[in-house]
Amino acid sequence: MAKKRLGQHFLSDPSILKRIVGTARLEPEDLVVEIGPGPGRLTRILAGAVRRVIAIELDEALYRALRDEYAQEENVEVVYGDALEYPYEDLPEFKVVANIPYYITTPIIFRLLEKKSAHLNMLKGVQGIPPLEKEGMPDFRTNRLKSMTLTIQKEVAERIVARPGGKDYGVLSIMVQYLGDPELKFIIPKQAFRPVPKVDSAVIYIRIREHPAVNVRDEEQFFRIVRTAFSQRRKMLSNSLKSFGGDVKEWLDRAEIEGVRRPETLSIGDFVRLADTFEIS
Ligand code: SAM
Repeated sequence: MAKKRLGQHFLSDPSILKRIVGTARLEPEDLVVEIGPGPGRLTRILAGAVRRVIAIELDEALYRALRDEYAQEENVEVVYGDALEYPYEDLPEFKVVANIPYYITTPIIFRLLEKKSAHLNMLKGVQGIPPLEKEGMPDFRTNRLKSMTLTIQKEVAERIVARPGGKDYGVLSIMVQYLGDPELKFIIPKQAFRPVPKVDSAVIYIRIREHPAVNVRDEEQFFRIVRTAFSQRRKMLSNSLKSFGGDVKEWLDRAEIEGVRRPETLSIGDFVRLADTFEIS
């Protein structure tokens, strides 16, 4: 019996599973982290394709079954626990391939990407992002994530790849596109899952960039501005940025951005200009 609260919607069609693995651009030497292996059908294909697989499962019964299945096989390590708390920073270079439980889609993407960036807490205040470091113990290590191949809700995939100008474009698009290069690869109709979920899914491939897409002087400031602007996405920038204090009009003039614009019309480069010209204390 699938557990709804753990986002259990299983895939079994071998052609879909192979297509997902084909999307991931894997090399025989790779280390792959699979989040939520469930009954392990994707895990089996991954195990045949790469040197090592770490499969993290939170459902104890599924974990036990998978651990027993792989007891004699050395290249699959089955881990019992919450993928949001796994210490990815301790791994050598790795790729993630996963059919993500819906309820952690955004938190897990931010969890993996946050440590690609020089600043911690840049996402604090974004809805659904768990606190990462324990009180008083900031962790400045970065992880060595190379790519993510994720099966996620179609609507979230569309937000990730969205370009400026539409309703899908927002903090998630900017964060992912700043650190990675996302591509929406194909749609999986909801009928392919058991039990059948409410919405269709999409497979998305995100290559992680060696360096962020654009240079910004102060990354923390950049994300603060992006967050603030989108927290009131219907408002003009001249209003939504008022909380920064000082002469907002003069600031926008320096950045050569019209105050009447709304945040979804700004490119990542425009937000970088806003961050780089920010002088109000
Ligand atoms: N990979 C399998 C497949 O494609 O059929 C299962 C995918 S199912 C959408 C998500 C899986 O993630 C379930 O097995 C669920 O128990 C597990 N899961 C849920 N929350 C988790 C968490 N926080 N950490 C690790 N696994 C989790």
